[in-house]
Amino acid sequence: MTQQALFIIFGGTGDLAYRKLYPSLFRLYEKGYLKDDFAVIGTARRPWTNDHYHEVVMNAIADDGHESDRTNSEIARKFASHFYYQSHNVNDTEHYVALRKLADKLDEKYKLNGNRIYYLAMAPRFFGTIAGHLKSEKLITDHGYNRLIIEKPFGRDFETAKELNDDISAAFSEDQIYRIDHYLGKEAIQSIAALRFGNQVIESLWNKEHIDNIQITLAESLGVEERAGYYETAGALRDMVQNHILQIVSLLTMQKPSEYTAKELRDRKVEALQNIKVYSAKEASKNFVRGQYGEDAEHEQLDYRHEEGTDEHSQIETFVAGKLETTNGNLTGVPIYIRTGKRLARKSTQINVVFKDTTDNIFTATGEQDTKLEQNVLTLYVEPDQGYQLDLNVKNGSQGYGIMPIHLEYHKTSAEKAKVPEAYEKLIHDALDGNRTNFAHWHEVAQAWRIVDVVRQNWDSQKTDFPNYVSGTMGPKAAQELLTRDHRDWVFGA
Ligand code: NAD
Repeated sequence: MTQQALFIIFGGTGDLAYRKLYPSLFRLYEKGYLKDDFAVIGTARRPWTNDHYHEVVMNAIADDGHESDRTNSEIARKFASHFYYQSHNVNDTEHYVALRKLADKLDEKYKLNGNRIYYLAMAPRFFGTIAGHLKSEKLITDHGYNRLIIEKPFGRDFETAKELNDDISAAFSEDQIYRIDHYLGKEAIQSIAALRFGNQVIESLWNKEHIDNIQITLAESLGVEERAGYYETAGALRDMVQNHILQIVSLLTMQKPSEYTAKELRDRKVEALQNIKVYSAKEASKNFVRGQYGEDAEHEQLDYRHEEGTDEHSQIETFVAGKLETTNGNLTGVPIYIRTGKRLARKSTQINVVFKDTTDNIFTATGEQDTKLEQNVLTLYVEPDQGYQLDLNVKNGSQGYGIMPIHLEYHKTSAEKAKVPEAYEKLIHDALDGNRTNFAHWHEVAQAWRIVDVVRQNWDSQKTDFPNYVSGTMGPKAAQELLTRDHRDWVFGA
């Protein structure tokens, strides 16, 4: 099914639009999902012409492309001709009047039936004012659909998130709001439901009787790069845990939806987040660890406090590890260990589901060598590797009865990975379809803030000694101790 729609992109000259939105829209166009009846208005303060805008869009496609001559190709040119640039200051009411006129004109020209998608690729402090003006200046149509896509960060804590949500909700209803968490657009994250509910062998073991603990690691090898300005005000807890990690937690711990629909899935996810324990300050101290990277062992990489744009006394964390407790149905009591950080040993996002030890190991008495059985672990590789691994114990091939661990593995090849639609492409496609399954509901966002706010407040109330981990390692010692004290270990070492 193709879609008629007018996109109005606020922040059309920005990084996100260039790197993600234009290439994603192009791929949807190449695949025939967008045809001739679509148009895009890019807005920002710069005084660009339409011709210049077309060039930018074609460059964005070329920079993203696997095919080197895409920029000059007929299809890229045809695609770019659907783009219109409107210089616009989001605080100026008059500019919305001009925007409405252009929108109405394009609506008629391309026969778009009043369908509009407003993409706010701008700092969240502008969201309220944009949403308010879209309503007051009547850009919101009374025929066709009107959908608002917004980017993270959605607030700095529960209070600011609520204010932001109230502002947006004055102009758009919840079912018109599409909150992007691009992790929800990733193939491996979308696959969690398939793995859990499409395999009896796994579904029947997904409970506290069989699962010992769950581990989620979002490890980055890079440092803060050019994002110090933003990062200094955010930190790893707000940047990664409140959104991506807690979304993953909700998908791993939710009860089975009665059907795979947006509403059912969201209800189960909200429930799952509401069943994650909100800690007291004391519990937060015990169960959460923060870190900030120092130099690497060779003294070649700068420590965080000497990166450009950071505060030399910065108390911002570049690493978080924590233990979450759930009371959700049959997973009640299964600990969930989470971890994310910059400048870690290796870039990898993975989920490890560790199963309980075999009870009454009958091989201990008969084995000829080491017969201690390894725990079964199911691993989901999210990125850069995409795949699955199941660790099992089998006979080791000797004359006697020794046991050895093996891994059943499936990894997508580069060619297979290249075929998987990129997260933004999937999410924009879903937004065009009106499918909100992979967007965060306000109740999810709100509960996630309640969970992390306690940790944040606790950290903000006391200074700590940073840096506390060497770049190129897996974080501070305390992150290891978090598991050691429970007689466990991180599955993903270095
Ligand atoms: P950016 O700074 O590159 O772009 C911001 C855009 O807003 C520019 O087009 C700028 O001209 C425009 N702008 C600023 N003030 C304006 C005003 N008063 N009136 C009109 N236009 C104005 O930022 P970005 O990296 O593209 O990020 C945009 C949003 O997306 C932010 O909320 C960011 O947190 C979020 N985000 C970005 C990425 C990414 O990969 N860049 C990833 C996730 C989330």
